[in-house]
Amino acid sequence: MGSFNGAEEEDVQYGRVIESSYTPEDVDVEFSLRPKTLSEYIGQEKVKENMKIYIEAAKKRKEPLDHVLLYGPPGLGKTTLSGIIANEMGVNIKITSGPAIEKPGSLASILTTLKDGDVLFIDEIHRLSRQVEEVLYPAMEDYALDIMIGKGPDAQSIRIDLPKFTLIGATTRAGQLTGPLRDRFGVVERLELYNQQELTQIIMRSAVILGIPTLKEGAAELARRSRGTPRIANRLLKRARDFAEVRGDGKITKDLANYALNCLEIDDLGLDGLDRRMLTMIIKGYNGGPVGLETLASALGEEAVTLEDVCEPYLMQLGFIARTPRGRTATALAYKHLGIDFNGQQTMF
Ligand code: ADP
Repeated sequence: MGSFNGAEEEDVQYGRVIESSYTPEDVDVEFSLRPKTLSEYIGQEKVKENMKIYIEAAKKRKEPLDHVLLYGPPGLGKTTLSGIIANEMGVNIKITSGPAIEKPGSLASILTTLKDGDVLFIDEIHRLSRQVEEVLYPAMEDYALDIMIGKGPDAQSIRIDLPKFTLIGATTRAGQLTGPLRDRFGVVERLELYNQQELTQIIMRSAVILGIPTLKEGAAELARRSRGTPRIANRLLKRARDFAEVRGDGKITKDLANYALNCLEIDDLGLDGLDRRMLTMIIKGYNGGPVGLETLASALGEEAVTLEDVCEPYLMQLGFIARTPRGRTATALAYKHLGIDFNGQQTMF
């Protein structure tokens, strides 16, 4: 804990190039690629505008910033934004995650090491246990810890004052937070998928930092196929560099980017094998749906959370799948993208 890249407490996963959660390779470079100020943070204009005002107001009043909840799919910049908030407030940040805080005592010891104004960042805050969450309530509301001493009828509760800190919680699913926890955040902001222009800017910025010669058209091509996610954009840039160095002249041009992405089996819209398998399973395995997420996940041999957090946001943004109360359905656009006859399938219902 305590380092800004926070990688030591992440579940490390290997696999897809377009996986939007951390992989070991990201750990080295993510730190250097993270913007440090709001003006360097590309996109998310509405969130930035709001945060600027809250930060300025808190600084004027010489008070800590209100607690902030950031939500949205992985890799969109929640950790980065938290670091920026701490930086702009001129305070320290401590980074941990819901699953890493196993016992109420662990949270208590983290809270007591904070200083006035400090930011405590809890990633995956929806995964905190109920007992740990209960320690957080008075900490967030009254900057206090309630500690029970003794057992049975002699038990006594004593209150310890805590520094006035700011909690920043990040989650991929605001819906899974308990009501009492959600209500204790004064600021709730949703991060959106990025558009191609913003991702192109992010890739060009990263290319400069990493010293990778990249043409704007090459960056735009990578951006178009990055599923709206900066972490994926940065990863595609690094993979394209490998192809540029081995198969090209070291420069990332549009053709080179295209070649690299085709080798990586990332299609024209940025879908990879898993996205296409998911769509094909809904269409061919379940007549286009509706099919429940768990059923779909076990049919594909994947975790339901991977489908929900990683595949779905982008497939929904493309209008390829729809969520209904009875499960997921594939839309006519998905059939078209996969080259499957929509009407032909429809007659099977
Ligand atoms: P999350 O916490 O939402 O999973 P991160 O904050 O770890 O996402 O961001 C992943 C990577 O994407 C970071 O290393 C950072 O370089 C890059 N990134 C995210 N958002 C932005 C942005 N708005 N501008 C530039 N780079 C960004």
